[in-house]
Amino acid sequence: MIIKPKVRGFVCVTAHPEGCAAHVQEWIDHVTAQGPLQGGPKKVLVIGASTGYGLASRITAAFGSGAATLGIFFERPSEEGRNATPGWYNSIGFTHAARARGLYAQNINGDAFSDDIKRQAVETIRRDLGQVDLVVYSLASPRRTHPRTGVVHKSVLKPVGASYVNKTVDTDKGLVSEVKIEPASEAEIADTIAVMGGEDWELWMNALSEAKLLAPGAQSVAYSYIGPEVTWAIYKNGTIGLAKNDLERAARHIDSLLKLNGGGRAFISVNKALVTQASSAIPVVPLYISILYKIMKAQGTHEGCIEQIQRLFSTHMYHGQTPKFDEAGRVRIDDWEMRPEIQAAVREIWPRVTTENLAAETDIVGYRSEFLKLFGFGLPGINYDAETEPHRLMP
Ligand code: NAD
Repeated sequence: MIIKPKVRGFVCVTAHPEGCAAHVQEWIDHVTAQGPLQGGPKKVLVIGASTGYGLASRITAAFGSGAATLGIFFERPSEEGRNATPGWYNSIGFTHAARARGLYAQNINGDAFSDDIKRQAVETIRRDLGQVDLVVYSLASPRRTHPRTGVVHKSVLKPVGASYVNKTVDTDKGLVSEVKIEPASEAEIADTIAVMGGEDWELWMNALSEAKLLAPGAQSVAYSYIGPEVTWAIYKNGTIGLAKNDLERAARHIDSLLKLNGGGRAFISVNKALVTQASSAIPVVPLYISILYKIMKAQGTHEGCIEQIQRLFSTHMYHGQTPKFDEAGRVRIDDWEMRPEIQAAVREIWPRVTTENLAAETDIVGYRSEFLKLFGFGLPGINYDAETEPHRLMP
């Protein structure tokens, strides 16, 4: 089968197996080029390990410090004649590369919110690893079936309290328009907190703790976003921001649990806005990212997921370093994004962006190529006109 991109709004419904493996290899090469991570993690559980920040965390742990990794994700496998979602191919690519280096790499594909997947993870860690010294929680999901009540909670990306009007871009068509989003109801706020808040992270950590699978001094990190004022109504002060506040509440609770476990810690790392499958679904944010990329690339400070996580691990978590927290106890690896001169440049460009000048004023071209790369397209060295087999089994 010849596999080409088929973009539908903010998703691409196809994915290229060799392209995804090449993308994973680029990330591996970046981590390898930075040299070994002194005192890095050795046995790592990554929840949300197949794409974006979770995949970057897994690669940094494995190729930065030779960690054994167990990856949890929820991807659609391939079938005869039908491609998988990219996270499936990424995980195959990662697993081959890690095992070729002699590293343990195991995967569980299923709903991380369920008791069943937690049980499978507990059994796998007990059998294969004994204990883990790092747990990365990097889920981004539109829904969660609650394991106790069976209720299906759906998250929404909406402002809270008042409607919100701002510019947005259809990244596929290149159209800049105004979007008006009505405020969330109380039920929608509660649902979004149930999906993207901290309860599930706490359930994971409690399950691991009860099974005595957390090594003394074990750490855990989950990811959040704050961003500039132009996105606050839809992000920081919106439904997702309230869910992230709950994630911070959970971080404090898990931190006290881990402190008692040989002086470990849990914390939130606030990461940079980047093109991922999760962020492309948020209104307004892709336009902000397109402007941000242009400015940060010009300044030489642009980073992707892998650069962000490699910097998190090497300047806050390992390599003889300890986390440097902001006033709210969070690590800020979004520090370069939030530099005043970067944000001043965004504020200057923002009001004048139109459909007509989109290509000149923003890095929409870079946005699109990053987006396609998420699905394995546009990687050097891949012949996209060649036949390829979409059906691939997890090794
Ligand atoms: P992503 O969409 O690339 O990755 C999400 C991961 O979660 C995938 O591995 C997916 O398989 C997994 N997943 C989703 N639902 C699942 C389920 N029910 N069970 C098991 N696995 C499931 O997302 P991302 O952008 O890397 O986001 C990861 C975290 O980083 C989120 O907390 C997000 O808020 C945060 N973050 C993202 C950005 C950004 O700009 N992308 C910035 C800062 C923080």
